[in-house]
Amino acid sequence: MNVYDSDRMSELLSEVGFAKKSSVDDADMVILNTCHIREKASEKLFSELGRLRLIKEARGRAGERLIVAVAGCVAQGIGKEITRRFPEVDIVVGPQSYHELPDLVTRVLEGGQSRLVQTEFPVEPKFDFLPGTRSHQGVTAFLSIQEGCDKFCTFCVVPYTRGAEYSRPVSEIIFEARSLVESGVQDITLLGQNVNAYHGLRGNNRKASLAILIEALGEIEGLSRVRYTTSHPRDMGANLISAHERLPILMPHLHLPVQSGSNKILKGMNRGYTVEEYLDIVDRLRDARPDIALSSDFIVGFPGETREDFEATLTLVERVNFAQAYSFKYSPRPGTPAADLNSHVDQEISAQRLACLQRLLDQQQLNFNQSKVGTKLKILIEKPGRNCGQMIGKSQYMQAVHVEGGGSSSPLKVGDLIEVDVVAGSKNSLTGERAQK
Ligand code: SAH
Ligand code: SF4
Repeated sequence: MNVYDSDRMSELLSEVGFAKKSSVDDADMVILNTCHIREKASEKLFSELGRLRLIKEARGRAGERLIVAVAGCVAQGIGKEITRRFPEVDIVVGPQSYHELPDLVTRVLEGGQSRLVQTEFPVEPKFDFLPGTRSHQGVTAFLSIQEGCDKFCTFCVVPYTRGAEYSRPVSEIIFEARSLVESGVQDITLLGQNVNAYHGLRGNNRKASLAILIEALGEIEGLSRVRYTTSHPRDMGANLISAHERLPILMPHLHLPVQSGSNKILKGMNRGYTVEEYLDIVDRLRDARPDIALSSDFIVGFPGETREDFEATLTLVERVNFAQAYSFKYSPRPGTPAADLNSHVDQEISAQRLACLQRLLDQQQLNFNQSKVGTKLKILIEKPGRNCGQMIGKSQYMQAVHVEGGGSSSPLKVGDLIEVDVVAGSKNSLTGERAQK
């Protein structure tokens, strides 16, 4: 979602004369778009600000200016602390207020006014103020359809930094999707902190579910692929599961975070489902779409996690067999209920558990990729590869696939959707040859 937000910020600022630069040396302004989900993510911000302070001081000595803005969830969570600790910061703007950036920047530039902080949750959704059309580069794109969260898992800062759940109206999403397709996009990933809780307005004041929205997107000519992330198991309803069977535009890939394989820990996390319920959803998804690739998120070392709880997570992983996963050591976040529990797991033990879980997940990822060797996959070509004539694309299962150019008579180009014979698979990618017609 931060990638999407950053894109929107640069689109907004291009309207007031800014252009994206790849190096700080060429920039008049730097925006750090931050994540607050784990402590490590906010630490990155602090070290980056230290580096920018030196650059800003050097610019000052040369009579030049560098505007430093901090956006995103760290800005939302600890905006006041940032302005207190880091005098080099000119603007602090939360994730629900970044549509105000052009105005904030103009005020800093014109008035010489510094230290502008905007972290209120505005009454009007920011999407009302963002341009409806997009100027996106590339054949794949993110599109935010839902933001915020009302679930309040006990470890998570999202409900506090992104605010209450909000779904964008269907018409607005279709408009944005069409404009992406007009700029060359073929593969859209719909985004939301709880994307499958989507319930945006459609005509006659009725609400649309995510399945209905995807069906409507399926009618856009030129759009070949739709995915959605991140889903919550509790909102994995029957009609969304059956959409994986019914809708060809919906890719056979689903990120469905489970976090833990222990019912006791799931309860402590306030996740609202049991291991058995999660496994039942997985079975129903596989009934609907037998080849669906599942990915997940895991937290190890949540307060009170015993060896048995951790082993239950390993058992669940073995039972499901994931195509890919992210796993993290529990990170206490100030203001969340779990941070106040006094049953914290020893860091060393958490680290060992994480390494053990990651070994298993890596092996499953490798197995999944290798299971595609000898099969044909449909690849959307996204960019040139390292070798001459080689291109890199994505499979329907989200795997990166390296494809050789296919001869000089018909070189592959970005945007081609081609069939490929998979000849090799490693943990992170596949190698394919263009299938003969
Ligand atoms: N809405 C999604 C997750 C969003 S946060 C869901 O409910 O599944 C992305 C991931 O970050 C989470 O799935 C979780 O695995 C991880 N995460 C969130 N808070 C964390 C914390 N305090 N410590 C460690 N990992 C955390
Ligand atoms: Fe955080 Fe996801 Fe739980 Fe919401 S559902 S509180 S975003 S982990």
